[in-house]
Amino acid sequence: MKFFMPTEVFIGKNVIEENKEKFREIGKKALIVTGRSSSKKNGSLEAIEKTLKEMNIEYLVYDKVEENPTVETVVLAGEIGRKENVDFIVGIGGGSPIDASKAIGVYILNKNLTKETLFTSEKLKSIPIVAVPTTAGTGTETTQYAILTDHVEKTKKNLGQEIFPVLSLVDPTFMMGMSIGITRNTAIDAFSHVVEGYLNTNANKISDGLAETALKEFSKTIEGLKKGTLSYEDRESLAIVSNIAGIIIAQTGTSIPHGLGYSLTYYKNVPHGLANGCLYKEYLKVFKNREKVNKIYELLGFEVEELDELLESFCTVHIDITEEEIKAWSKAFTNNKAKLKNHPEEITEEDIVRIYKNSLLK
Ligand code: NAP
Ligand code: FE
Repeated sequence: MKFFMPTEVFIGKNVIEENKEKFREIGKKALIVTGRSSSKKNGSLEAIEKTLKEMNIEYLVYDKVEENPTVETVVLAGEIGRKENVDFIVGIGGGSPIDASKAIGVYILNKNLTKETLFTSEKLKSIPIVAVPTTAGTGTETTQYAILTDHVEKTKKNLGQEIFPVLSLVDPTFMMGMSIGITRNTAIDAFSHVVEGYLNTNANKISDGLAETALKEFSKTIEGLKKGTLSYEDRESLAIVSNIAGIIIAQTGTSIPHGLGYSLTYYKNVPHGLANGCLYKEYLKVFKNREKVNKIYELLGFEVEELDELLESFCTVHIDITEEEIKAWSKAFTNNKAKLKNHPEEITEEDIVRIYKNSLLK
């Protein structure tokens, strides 16, 4: 059995201010990496800038990371970081800016890398990454993954390096003003990490214990998610679920819904969590061994139909899709051995076509 999670994590109100001394040990000049606007509105950027100033740490801000970040963005920000000799990164925002930060960190440290050679099988390190997540979804603050959009292969794929943040500071107050749409989409992402890590070839007793705890914690937030109003306690619970979920998939990887969802995001622009969520009802049906699947319902306090209804009510997009597209994506996915081998049972291309069709052709 193997378990590895090297990130120091703090979750709660004011964790940035309370842990400001830690920045001194990490570096002398930071590149702050954010999305385009949310970090300026929710107070997270201001909190980091204030702390770095108090610690007399120089910094500059790169605030142009788009959703589903591209290799081009990584290179643009990486060039700035190289020129300015920054020695660590603070990634603030959702999964997009934090994943981008990990790839930018690799690009800055490895000066020979170019846009063409960023994806390499060589094992590379990064300058230190501090993660300040402002969504409760991806768990990137506790994973080694960095998911980038690759227009050459026309999909989203993992950078392939193992870049755990050195420090993750999770303050749920930055999430209080988040729209219910983004809240639900990101919550489904966290939920899907827990489930795909639980129903996974690589699951072990430690990851299962974490998954069961996360499912119980998630169940506390369902009323708020349904109603569309979330208290601070709900936000903190979702942040904890997302964090634990990251720890789980750092051990197990994700599996089928994530692999199938990437096409929906790449070709149809469906947000990541929503893309997974729309496929979940059918994904959960394909398991022949029902023991662990039933445990999920039990821990959530749900009958099967109740979870189906909940996921359907969150799946609010109409996705225009043809049978030809479904066939092509299913074929491409069946060739994606990495995701398939995480699924603990045999599954055929026909099963994959069925998941897509039953989920999307209505
Ligand atoms: P995101 O793409 O980072 O952000 C989605 C939207 O939420 C953006 O418009 C963003 O605004 C906004 N936002 C962020 N924080 C907010 C807040 N506190 N209040 C209001 N709006 C806020 O979304 P995400 O779902 O967190 O990340 C998705 C990415 O992570 C995908 O690329 C996915 O593939 C990847 N992912 C990574 C892992 C991993 O382990 N590394 C796991 C799963 C998914 P701004 O752009 O203005 O900031
Ligand atoms: Fe995800």
